Amino acid sequence: MIISIKKSGLAFFVAIVFVVAISFSTLFGLRAKAVSSPIYEYTVVIDAGHGGIDGGVVGSAGVKESDINLKMSKILEKELESRNFGVVMTRTTQDALNNVKRLDMQARKKIIVDANPTAVISLHVNKFSDSSRRGVQVFYDDTGIGKDFATAMQNHLNENINAVYGTRSNYEPIGGDLYITKCAKVPSIIIECGFISNSEDEKLLLSQDFCEDLCRRIGEVLTSSLNN
Ligand SMILES: [Zn+2]
Repeated sequence: MIISIKKSGLAFFVAIVFVVAISFSTLFGLRAKAVSSPIYEYTVVIDAGHGGIDGGVVGSAGVKESDINLKMSKILEKELESRNFGVVMTRTTQDALNNVKRLDMQARKKIIVDANPTAVISLHVNKFSDSSRRGVQVFYDDTGIGKDFATAMQNHLNENINAVYGTRSNYEPIGGDLYITKCAKVPSIIIECGFISNSEDEKLLLSQDFCEDLCRRIGEVLTSSLNN
């Protein structure tokens, strides 16, 4: 699940970086990282949602969303590194960044801002009162620049994950007022990786093969977005 906040509570970060060699991608507004990193042209922040005392949603077997998010994030980290992306993780353990939710979210924002990323991907798990609801859904900030990236991601995941695993495959990305997607002025999305309230999706979320498949598809969108 994800958190909405009021716009008035936001402080906007503005960075002006002068570089000699900086390139711009042609799709989705994804921006190349400044030349400070000699190794990676692009850096992606992966945010594993929740953590610590905030476990997020919980499945029928007692598995916490925060743990699934962390596992998925580490798989995505490997996937993106194999594609020569720089990766910055907001958390790598089961702990939150702060036990106070507001401070936890502010700490995530600081990591994102400091990373000067090309894109931000926050991973979560969904839950819904209708247990038949299934599939991967993508969210973006409806006042920001992430819609095209979110649309490309949702379409690719509809075709290569949702349709393949028998879930609803005509999702459109959902815009909202979502804190983590507002932390930097780069394409930022939340991916709800499935519905823990559905037993089939819950099994998938606990399956290493599914997690690797999903992360591979996420990586494909980033690679095609930045190399075209
Ligand atoms: Zn969540």
